[in-house]
Amino acid sequence: VGDELDLVRRIAGWSAATLRSGSALTLGIGDDCAIYSPDGSAEDLLFTTDFLLEDVHFEVATHSAEEAGHKALARALSDIAAMGGDPRFCLVSLAFPKKLGERWAEGFYQGLTDLAKRFGVEVAGGDLARQPRVLVDLVVCGAVVRGGAMLRSGGRVGDGLYVTGPLGASARGLAQRKGKAWDRHRRPEPRVAEGRALREAGVRCAMDLSDGLSMDLHRLALASGLAAEITEVPRDRGATLEQALHGGEDYELLFASGRDVEGMIRIGTLREGTAGEVLWRGKPLRRAGFDHFARG
Ligand SMILES: [Mg+2]
Repeated sequence: VGDELDLVRRIAGWSAATLRSGSALTLGIGDDCAIYSPDGSAEDLLFTTDFLLEDVHFEVATHSAEEAGHKALARALSDIAAMGGDPRFCLVSLAFPKKLGERWAEGFYQGLTDLAKRFGVEVAGGDLARQPRVLVDLVVCGAVVRGGAMLRSGGRVGDGLYVTGPLGASARGLAQRKGKAWDRHRRPEPRVAEGRALREAGVRCAMDLSDGLSMDLHRLALASGLAAEITEVPRDRGATLEQALHGGEDYELLFASGRDVEGMIRIGTLREGTAGEVLWRGKPLRRAGFDHFARG
C-alpha cells in the first residue's frame, strides 16, 4: 500500500512541469477531477477519467455486459459528484476480446446509456479496439458554479467528518456473491444529487469513497494538511467493521464540514497533527484500502 501514491506524486511532478502560468487549468492532479475555468464563464468545468478493467473492477463470468457498462460510467460520475458538480457529457473508450462478440458490446452500451440518460449525461464519442481482456476508459466532463467545487484540500481544523451513507456493502457483496450487497457491488449508484446538495449547503471539502475509507480519508486529510480521527463508522447491514473501514467501491461521499448537515452521518473530526494520519479511536489506522499496484 502506498506504491500508487508514490507514483502519483512523481507523475504530478512531471505534469506540473507542463503547466503554464495564468492557465485556465486551475486544478491539476490530486483531486477527484481536474478543474478548467474558461475566461469569463460563470462555470468551472470538471474532468475525470476512470478505468474499468476486467478482473480488477469486474469479471465477465459474474457481471453482465450491462452491469459493466453501468459500473464504468458510475465510477466516473462519482468523481463529478465528489466535487458537487453536474455531469454533462462523456467519452467512452472500449477495448474487448473478439470472443465476447458484438452482443457483449451492445449490452455494455445498453447499461452505460441507461445510466447516462438517468443523469442527463450525453455520450459524445470515444474509441473502440480489440484486446484480450476488457478495458474501458471513461472520461466525464461536468460543470460547477465558478469557484464552488468541493476539494479534498478544503478541510479546516475542527471540521466534522461525515459520510453520505453506511459503508461496507460493496466489500460484503464481493465476499458473499449474492443478495442486495452483491447487487450494490455490481451496480453502484453515484451520489450526484447528494454532492450537489452538500455544495449548495456550503460544504467545501469532499471526495468519493472508491478505494476504502482508511485509504480515502488519508488522502483527504493529507490534501487538507491535517490529521483525522474517526470514532464511528456506519456499517451497511451485515458488513463487518473491516469491510466498512477498508472495503472499497462504496461510492458514498466523504466530506468535512464546520457544522452538521441534515441527514449526514458524522464519523469523526479533522485536527492538527501529522498530515494524512488517520486515527481510529485514538490509534493509528492502517491503510488497507484498494491499491491496484500494491495488490498486484
Ligand atoms: Mg474519486
